[in-house]
Amino acid sequence: MNTSIDTLDIIGEEHIATSLETPLREDAFEMPDSIKIERIEKHFKEIMQILGLDLNDDSLRGTPHRVAKMYVKEVFSGLNPSNKPAVKLFENKYQYDGILIEKNITLYSYCEHHFVPIIGRVHVAYISNGQVIGLSKINRLVQYYAKRPQVQERLTNQVAEGLKEALLSEDVAVIIDAVHLCVASRGVKDSNSSTVTANYSGRFKNEKVKAEFHAMLNSS
Ligand SMILES: [Zn+2]
Repeated sequence: MNTSIDTLDIIGEEHIATSLETPLREDAFEMPDSIKIERIEKHFKEIMQILGLDLNDDSLRGTPHRVAKMYVKEVFSGLNPSNKPAVKLFENKYQYDGILIEKNITLYSYCEHHFVPIIGRVHVAYISNGQVIGLSKINRLVQYYAKRPQVQERLTNQVAEGLKEALLSEDVAVIIDAVHLCVASRGVKDSNSSTVTANYSGRFKNEKVKAEFHAMLNSS
């Protein structure tokens, strides 16, 4: 690809996603986590030094290691497929055939264009095809896809695809309402706007089902 610097700037500042899949190299997980932490620590230390910070200060000395560990083991741990939560399906014994919503799941992700937080709420709905999953698993799946450098549209679609795969069903809906700190605290500095994205699949594409879902979401 030979995209000009100007175009790359626009893609980043306007938060345009280029693909459904997170762009990862094929050798992304050949390096063990311990080496990744070591190398990120070294580079982050250099960034701090270039900024003029005194790494001999006790308050700053541990920061490069802390940031490196946080990137690999926590906030970007969802890049590694081996961290994907295992999902077990249960028989739908209650014969409940309505819409089930898991509402207000807390979202912490990172903008892949600025590496600052995206904070928001995720609402997930599905209709059982005879099998159900534990509610905490929905939460864990959302967290897994959130723990990557992300673009909100891609995160929305990845959560939807992950749920369809876990539930063996197409009848899934995902809504994300989030604030991007790169928009709220810098650039246009709009702290009041939030970004809402939605993905409707299977029966949720039907206007009646979609309307019922929205009514349930707004009922409390
Ligand atoms: Zn951003």
